[in-house]
Amino acid sequence: MENFIVSARKYRPDSFDTVVAQSSITNTLKNAIKSKQLAHAYLFCGPRGVGKTTCARIFAKTINCTNLTPENEACNECESCKAFNSSRSFNIHELDAASNNSVDDIRNLTDQVRVPPQMGKYSVYIIDEVHMLSQQAFNAFLKTLEEPPKHALFVLATTEKHKIIPTILSRCQIFDFNRIKVEDIAEHLEYVAKSEGVEVESEGLNIVAQKADGAMRDALSIFDQIVSFSGKKITYQDVITNLNVLDYDYYFRLIDQFLKNDVTGALLTFNDILNHGFDGHHFITGLSGHIRDLLVCKDPVTVQLLEVGGEIKERYKGQAQSCPQDFLLEALKISNECDLQYKISQNKRLLVELALIRMAQLSLKKK
Ligand SMILES: [Zn+2]
Repeated sequence: MENFIVSARKYRPDSFDTVVAQSSITNTLKNAIKSKQLAHAYLFCGPRGVGKTTCARIFAKTINCTNLTPENEACNECESCKAFNSSRSFNIHELDAASNNSVDDIRNLTDQVRVPPQMGKYSVYIIDEVHMLSQQAFNAFLKTLEEPPKHALFVLATTEKHKIIPTILSRCQIFDFNRIKVEDIAEHLEYVAKSEGVEVESEGLNIVAQKADGAMRDALSIFDQIVSFSGKKITYQDVITNLNVLDYDYYFRLIDQFLKNDVTGALLTFNDILNHGFDGHHFITGLSGHIRDLLVCKDPVTVQLLEVGGEIKERYKGQAQSCPQDFLLEALKISNECDLQYKISQNKRLLVELALIRMAQLSLKKK
């Protein structure tokens, strides 16, 4: 497709309000700006792709804005905001500690820190993957962190909080970013799709969101990939073909066959899956996931753990209702055993078939 701007870049949030699913953090930051109570150092922790660096950039832009909106957001119109938005602001410095982790790298940075900004109030230093700094680099940095000049503000980001030494932790205000829920990702993708004039079946968006495993950046790049293959009209089928995901119809069908003690049917379904080029191990872990999802549907308290949205959620609830709890528990045990033995098994196909036969006989025993 010509002129398709990569969504991951185009839809990067540019205000606190547009950050997805981290409202408690963005609200705290906005309040700090409002009450002019800024710390000198912040530590943003959380899995990759959840908005740590994005929030740090928005924060840097907002505290330098000369004309804040009544909602305490950057105005996007003043000279400073314009510089930020076109990535030419001198008030923000980013260091990726994953590739620049030596003492010299940190010395370069701390030398810069002393120089007050030409324009704007604050110089913001973002150090990404800060846990990757070498021990000596950490020590060199600590001095600056202890006595930072008034204009300097640090935002450290890490995916591995446990690797940050206590002396650093104690000097930072710490924010824990959440893994983004599948539903929130799907909802945001829907918004992006609409804005781009792309029609997607919501079940397809759910699959993309699941694949992204909590990271918005990944979700958007997967979305882009599918748009470039399938164009502006995307079905659930397009998505699963593109991502090589097994249609969940198979799992629903199998559970129905188990409940009817239909051993033959279950074996044929598995054969069909293999014929479509899917790997047996991939299948069995998917089946475990499906049974787990049915199990959490049984209880109104755990149903929130079901990470699917829309119509498909109702389908899960429906099937869960027809499954006795002990059937699900036993089936989960069998598929989990199969999963564990898969790697060492000499006859993998037979191993899976045996598991399916056992599951198809579960409800028989009760009669
Ligand atoms: Zn501004």
